Amino acid sequence: MGASSWDLIVAGAGPAGAAAALEARRLAPEARVLLLDRERFPRDKACGDGIGPHAAGELAELGAGSVLDGYPPIRRLRLRAPGGIEAAGASAMPSWVVPRKVLDARLVEAAVGAGVVLRQERVRRLEQRDGLVIVNGELAAPAAIGADGANSTVRRLLGAPSSPEHRTAIALRGYAPAPPEPPEQLIGWVAEGWPAYVWSFPTGTGLVNVGYGLLRSRLHGGGRAELERRLRTLLPGLDPDPASLRAHHLPFSPSRPLAGRGRVLLCGDAACMVNPLSGEGIYYALASGRLAARASLLAPGRPGPAYRALLTVALGRHFRHAAVLGRAIRWQPLACAALAAADSSPARFQRLVELGLGQARITPALLASVLAGWRTRRR
Ligand SMILES: Cc1cc2nc3c(=O)[nH]c(=O)nc-3n(C[C@H](O)[C@H](O)[C@H](O)COP(=O)(O)OP(=O)(O)OC[C@H]3O[C@@H](n4cnc5c(N)ncnc54)[C@H](O)[C@@H]3O)c2cc1C
Repeated sequence: MGASSWDLIVAGAGPAGAAAALEARRLAPEARVLLLDRERFPRDKACGDGIGPHAAGELAELGAGSVLDGYPPIRRLRLRAPGGIEAAGASAMPSWVVPRKVLDARLVEAAVGAGVVLRQERVRRLEQRDGLVIVNGELAAPAAIGADGANSTVRRLLGAPSSPEHRTAIALRGYAPAPPEPPEQLIGWVAEGWPAYVWSFPTGTGLVNVGYGLLRSRLHGGGRAELERRLRTLLPGLDPDPASLRAHHLPFSPSRPLAGRGRVLLCGDAACMVNPLSGEGIYYALASGRLAARASLLAPGRPGPAYRALLTVALGRHFRHAAVLGRAIRWQPLACAALAAADSSPARFQRLVELGLGQARITPALLASVLAGWRTRRR
C-alpha cells in the first residue's frame, strides 16, 4: 500500500463525515479510512444543538449512543406561531441538546477509536481518473465522500451549484443561562422575516441555546447586527453571551438533493439536506453519511448509483414531501392553521412534531388536521 492510498476518503468531520467514517469501519473493520477536516477538534459549529429522536436512533445504530452522555433527554416541547397560537406537550420520543463543540469531538473520537485515521487538512483539489478519486494531488481512493458542510468545497470542485438563495436560510445562535423552569424546547415561528423562527433549547446542564433564523433572501441586506437585534427582541429574558453568538447558512433540501458525481458522493449539508420545516440537519447528515459509506464500501465499482438507490429508499419520499411543505408554510395562514390544529389534539401535535423532526410526510390525516385548524381559526 502506498502511503497515500486509501479505501475511502471522507472530507469534513462534522456529523455526516464522522458517521460515514464510523460506518465504513463498522461494515469493513479492515478498511483504510481517512477523515480530513480543515479544523482541529474540539471546534464550535453554529447550531441549535438539537438532537431529535431520529438522530439519536442513528447514533445508536452507529454504536455511538454514548456521545449523548451527561445531557438529559428532554421531552417537553412548545410550538408557537404569530397571533398567540401555541401548542405544547410531551413529545412521544425525547430529544437531546448537546453543544456541537462536545458532540462533534465525541463523534470524531469514536471514529478514531474505531480505527479511522484523522488528519487536519483542508480539501482544495479533486480529480477523478482511472477509477480513483485523487484528493489534494496525493491522496487516492476508489471513492470519496464530501461531507464538508453548507459551503462545501467538494461540491464546488464537482462543478455543482451551491444552494440557491431562495432555499438557503441563515441563523444566529448563542448561549444564555437557563431559566429556573423545568427544561422545555421552544420552537416559535415569528412574523419578523416570515417564514422565520426562534428557538430556545435547554441543554439540561444550566445553559440554553437560543437562536433566530430566516431565509437569506428575507434579511433584505440587514446583516449580523439585524439578526442579533431580532434574536434579543423576540426572546426577551434570555440574554445570550455576546461571545457565543455565531451565524451560519442552512441549505434547505430540494425534492431531489444532489447525491454527488462519479465516485464522489455528497452528504449532509454538502448535499443540501436540511429540513425546510424545522432547520433540522443533524439527522439527515448522520443518515446520509452512513448510506454513503455503505455504498462506497459495498459497491466500490459503482458507488454513485448505489448511493442514489439507498438514499431514494431511505429518504426519497421525505425529501419530496418536505420540499412541498417547505414551500407551503411560506403562506403564513396555513402554518398557523396547522399549529392551531395541533393545540387541540395530542395526536395532531405528535404529527406536527414528526414533520419537523424526522420524516416529513403529506398524509390524508395531516391534510385533515390543517383543515380542522383552519376551521378553528375562522370561528
Ligand atoms: C444556527 C443553526 C442552527 C441549527 N440548529 C440545528 C438543530 O438544532 N438541530 C439540527 O439537527 N440541525 C441544526 N442545524 C443544521 C446542522 O447544523 C447541520 O445540518 C449539520 O451541522 C450538518 O452536518 P454536516 O456534517 O453535513 O456539516 P458540518 O457540521 O458543517 O461539518 C462540516 C465539516 O467540514 C469541515 N470542512 C469544511 N470545508 C472543508 C474543507 N475544504 N476541507 C476539509 N474540511 C472542511 C468543517 O470544518 C466541518 O467540521 C442548524 C444550523 C444552523 C446554522
